[in-house]
Amino acid sequence: MSVRVRFAPSPTGRIHIGNARTALLNWLFAKSQGGRFLLRFDDTDKARSTPAFAKTIRDDLAWLGIVPDEIARQSDRLDRYRREAARLKEAGRLYACYETKDELERKREQLRARGLPPIYDRAGLALTAQDHAQLERRGLRPHWRFLLDRRRASWNDLIRGCQHVDAACLSDPVLIRADGTVLYSLSSVIDDIDFSIGTVIRGEDHVTNTAIQLQLFKVLAAATPSFAHHSLMVDGDGRGLSKRSGTLPLSHYRERGFEPMAVASLAATLGTSQATGVHDSMNELMASFDITRVSRAPVRFDEKELEAFNARLLQRLPYESVAERLTAMGVGGGALFWDAMRANCRKLKDAPGWWAIVTGPIGPAIDEPEYCACAAEELPAEPWNGATWKDWTGRIRARTGRKGKALFMPLRRALTGLDHGPELAVLLPLIGRDKAMRRLRGKTA
Ligand code: GLU
Repeated sequence: MSVRVRFAPSPTGRIHIGNARTALLNWLFAKSQGGRFLLRFDDTDKARSTPAFAKTIRDDLAWLGIVPDEIARQSDRLDRYRREAARLKEAGRLYACYETKDELERKREQLRARGLPPIYDRAGLALTAQDHAQLERRGLRPHWRFLLDRRRASWNDLIRGCQHVDAACLSDPVLIRADGTVLYSLSSVIDDIDFSIGTVIRGEDHVTNTAIQLQLFKVLAAATPSFAHHSLMVDGDGRGLSKRSGTLPLSHYRERGFEPMAVASLAATLGTSQATGVHDSMNELMASFDITRVSRAPVRFDEKELEAFNARLLQRLPYESVAERLTAMGVGGGALFWDAMRANCRKLKDAPGWWAIVTGPIGPAIDEPEYCACAAEELPAEPWNGATWKDWTGRIRARTGRKGKALFMPLRRALTGLDHGPELAVLLPLIGRDKAMRRLRGKTA
């Protein structure tokens, strides 16, 4: 059967770089094996989920190069969840409980005070039919807990290796709220079964869920998928990423002019034993992808590293892949200019600044007026080409005896107003004779 994975965000906010990493690991895992990627919106929390956030998530993924093969919404499948919940009730694996939040908190406090783990005492299970009737008469609606089989769950995690979680240390989880809402732990399993998800790749904050969900797969008589839990990303200060703590959304990097492949390369190779490096296409990233090489250690995301990745990526991008965007930004000069300039760009949006130096006007930056005037006299006649610079500086050298920095730095400063920048051999013919002449004579041009 073909490989099928899912990325399952709740559309309650924008995704951040850590979420993007989960999506990428899933995408690379599936696509490197010719498999399929499902985008599933976990949108059962009606109060917080919005179609607008679902759209931003799709857009952000598309920007990264991830276009799902299929999209599903949990809100479309509520009847399906209710049917399965009814089956679980019939099988005696869901039981009704009536405690309020405060009551539960009190129970937990009492257990803690006695030095015991705060595990739910299964009081609901002990209620008789009479108790239920009485509670209902008082207007109370039950929530429903899953009766866990109190044994050790084990699985071979594709990232973490052999895992054991003792279900005896867990409270029976609530799967249905008093208002009838089916909760994530159950709906996710039903979806994973119905969409034939073979591998679940998600953050290690879900390891305990996996112990519970493995039991649900079994009760629902379905084959279990394999699991891979990756470590979570932390910021430069070692803090976890979260929408609530103000982690920047992925769109921030897009708006700041980062290339999607710089973001994808960093997010997908950070914390792997595969060399972190810039890849200029998803296909290339895919070719070296191996989920078993994702490490268990926390992964630190640093914007400085992303900046370095971006600059390195620009160095590798061929002109054809940026031509359209350069043209839209009004940058001319073709492949020749791009090749000369890109080492000076940390972002593509730096390109118009360099092009403006070619087209001018720039203010004069003449340190040695006499030398520059004599250089101006030596300017060859047009047409100019890639050899003009060599020809011109040869003449200047012959006339003045200067060489090296003393020869070219005053020329660079006069021609560009700066003491660094793209190769003058490329800039000179683009600047052209008229402008070069004026600039060497200290005129604005
Ligand atoms: N909606 C869940 C989350 O964002 C999905 C977890 C999972 O992948 O099962 O944490």
